[in-house]
Amino acid sequence: MNNLKKIVVVGASLAGVRACQNLRREGFEGQLTLVGEEKHLPYDRPPLSKTMLTSDQDPLELTLVSNSDLSDLQLELVLGEHATALDTERREVTVGGEGISYDGLVIATGARARKLSKFDHIEGIHTLRTVDDALAIRSGLESSSTIVIVGAGFIGSEVAAAAKQRDCQVTIVEANAAPLVRGLGIEVGNAYANIHRSNGIDLRLGVGIKDINGGADIEEVTLTDGSSMPAELLVVGIGAVPNTEWLATSGLSLDDGVVCDETLNAGIPGVYAVGDVAKAPNRWLGGRVRRTEHWTTATEHAALAAKNLLTPEDSEPYNSVPFIWSDQNEDRIQVAGDTTDFDEVQIFGGSTEDQDLIAGYRHGNSLVGVMALNNMRTFVKYRRLLASHGSWQDALDLSQELQS
Ligand SMILES: Cc1cc2nc3c(=O)[nH]c(=O)nc-3n(C[C@H](O)[C@H](O)[C@H](O)COP(=O)(O)OP(=O)(O)OC[C@H]3O[C@@H](n4cnc5c(N)ncnc54)[C@H](O)[C@@H]3O)c2cc1C
Repeated sequence: MNNLKKIVVVGASLAGVRACQNLRREGFEGQLTLVGEEKHLPYDRPPLSKTMLTSDQDPLELTLVSNSDLSDLQLELVLGEHATALDTERREVTVGGEGISYDGLVIATGARARKLSKFDHIEGIHTLRTVDDALAIRSGLESSSTIVIVGAGFIGSEVAAAAKQRDCQVTIVEANAAPLVRGLGIEVGNAYANIHRSNGIDLRLGVGIKDINGGADIEEVTLTDGSSMPAELLVVGIGAVPNTEWLATSGLSLDDGVVCDETLNAGIPGVYAVGDVAKAPNRWLGGRVRRTEHWTTATEHAALAAKNLLTPEDSEPYNSVPFIWSDQNEDRIQVAGDTTDFDEVQIFGGSTEDQDLIAGYRHGNSLVGVMALNNMRTFVKYRRLLASHGSWQDALDLSQELQS
């Protein structure tokens, strides 16, 4: 292990906490400081758009590390403080006007919800990224009967499913031709549109928001096709923006995230980026550079960066099949591999009518991605095939075998 005495981790959520845990597990015994701008103990985000909205779940149940685990980690925990600058020459992070020096740094500042910039002045518009956002939306769901959701990605779709479960009248407004189209393509997107509609959701595709009537309380939304609808609650789920502004003068390469090499090093010895903020090559993707907003990536990045920071001479590359899941009502969607760059999608089994589907994505002669709806056991088999870079023929053979 090299001569690191002080490591600072900025961003106290999934990637930051897991980085601290892995640093200790790998044997780092020096001073470890974790800085986070949220005042809450680090918590898990996936339940924010799921169980936190469908039930009265206590936010404390989402805590990522118990107080006793935190004390075992022997952290200097600085919560409720925003890091405002990084000086890589002095090796110092500025927090609350004070400099915190480091020998090693892990940047884990994640992302924040993208806003509808044109309507920034309207107070009553919700986005969903933090536990406070989820509590505000939950309280809105309790008192509203009409909800409009902008964006039919995973988060918008999950909020829609939760609102439906609470008997709200739900409209989703999506600029694309189908839900989830950017992540899963038009074929699966169309199939997913059927699921929303059969759940009683009014899905408006190929339109945007023209006007919003209201202030602290929203009243009505007008769409670009001229139609309008009542909306007591308006939730925007149109993606996330990486939190890199505090690094503006650091000299690090920033381009929709902190640009890293395949070991997650950010271009300066001892400085690594992990999780939603990191834009790094993934060897499994043939070295293509991606910024990935997936829970599993954040945990894998944290483990790898901790190891590479402590033993840079044995650095390993990030090499993993991308994986994300989403829960909507009783439905579980799982996606593995690359479902954004493909030549063909084929339904291997099931149908949306049966709420049971498995689809494969082909690029050239390779299986590059798989998407499953309520098909966990089959999904695992295709995911394994992806991990071993199976061919499209292997996927077709597996599909035959599973049907026989
Ligand atoms: C509602 C919701 C549902 C999701 N559901 C799923 C799911 O079902 N499946 C899945 O795979 N993924 C899901 N995700 C994505 C997953 O939660 C993220 O990939 C994961 O949280 C990334 O962790 P992170 O630590 O990199 O970033 P974040 O979780 O964004 O954490 C970054 C932390 O850094 C803090 N921070 C930012 N700037 C500073 C600064 N300058 N100084 C100090 N602190 C700072 C932030 O306040 C935040 O606490 C979901 C995300 C959301 C929001």
